[in-house]
Amino acid sequence: MPSAAWHDGASMNGPSLDTIVNLAKRRGIAFQSSEIYGGLRSTYDYGPLGVELKDNVKRAWWRAMVQLREDVVGLDASILMHPRVWEASGHVESFTDPLIECMNCHHRFRADHLPDPPVCPDCGNRQFTDARNFNLMFKTYAGPVEDAGALVWLRPETAQGIFVDFTQVLASSRKKIPFGIAQRGKSFRNEITPGNFIFRTREFEQMEMEYFVKPGTDEEAHQYWIDERFDWYLRLGIRREKLRLREHAADELSFYSKRTVDVEYEFPWGWAELEGIANRGDYDLSQHAKFSGQDLSYFDQESQERYVPYVIEPAAGADRCLLAFLVDAYREEEVTTASGKVERRTVLALHKDLAPYKAAVLPLSRHENLVPLAKEVASLLRPRFMIDYDDAGSIGRRYRRQDEIGTPYAVTVDFESLEDNAVTVRDRDTMAQDRIPIAELVAYLNERLVGT
Ligand SMILES: [Zn+2]
Repeated sequence: MPSAAWHDGASMNGPSLDTIVNLAKRRGIAFQSSEIYGGLRSTYDYGPLGVELKDNVKRAWWRAMVQLREDVVGLDASILMHPRVWEASGHVESFTDPLIECMNCHHRFRADHLPDPPVCPDCGNRQFTDARNFNLMFKTYAGPVEDAGALVWLRPETAQGIFVDFTQVLASSRKKIPFGIAQRGKSFRNEITPGNFIFRTREFEQMEMEYFVKPGTDEEAHQYWIDERFDWYLRLGIRREKLRLREHAADELSFYSKRTVDVEYEFPWGWAELEGIANRGDYDLSQHAKFSGQDLSYFDQESQERYVPYVIEPAAGADRCLLAFLVDAYREEEVTTASGKVERRTVLALHKDLAPYKAAVLPLSRHENLVPLAKEVASLLRPRFMIDYDDAGSIGRRYRRQDEIGTPYAVTVDFESLEDNAVTVRDRDTMAQDRIPIAELVAYLNERLVGT
């Protein structure tokens, strides 16, 4: 069994952000975008393991929010929407940060992020313009003419697609209130100060759900979703002591929000938001009804009433969730191997649903007698699970490589396998080894990997 000894990369409080950034780069989870051109600030690409991990985070969310529920359906709305959407939502008018500009180097800063009186952190100059509001939406033009009539925005949130399509989804899905519409997808915000690796980036992926309820039942539904969302992180293995709920103070709330609670994780740099769960009242549907001239109310057949539904919105960031799962799963341990040797290992104790590879097939060596059987075992597993095949280096080193990326099971094909048609399956967390007949291997892994 591994002992919980911690080393330089990880204190009792967990790994440093640098440790995670280095692991992510070295193992192809996430790295600087456009690096051969010097990179583009605060944009990152997900590599072969990262795309699996992120997909698994999104799939776990979808499973909990859509698949396992009778009362939530999915949607995939366009990133580009009618420009009036953003007038109705208030983004054109008020999705802004007050910025001041250095009169020497012309770099812009949020006034509240500089000392008072302000000093330019880039050139040391002390002369600034007055604060001006800077809209955080990315602006572009649809079609060949760059004029005001062709102006479109990259969506700064996925939520508005859900409100705008409310009546379409309602009619086609035949859902009755209370019900929800869930959506995952890219959003864009021209943040002035992005940072902390993939935590705050200008292009990011959201996982949002709008839950429509009858006015008067909204507070109870809100509390339900706060509890439900908090539990989701625990079910996926985040340590309880690293997670907390934070109630927004009255002066933080949007004017239309009755109450907002954030789920926060304790990252290496401190507590930060993973998800906000807001009671938005009937603001969004009322605004879109007003701006579009369409009736977005709902006729409740049970109570024979017509009303504009209230909305509960759990809105999470896929990239920052992924980062929290990575940080939380990172361990450096001292372990005793089967042969009694004490070794150090880095292991990602990821929940099995999130692990990029579910199993790795490892021939004991590249011996010509072993390889065909090992390839056969890999072909048996590949249609069912995302797997890796690794035959490079000593078996101990290959175990370490799989531990470091969180692969739950390592399947070793050795010379005995040629005789007994069985393989050794090593468990990532306990390092215990089971001898399993190849004919039973799929069932063995299914039982441990599916249905969590
Ligand atoms: Zn300056």
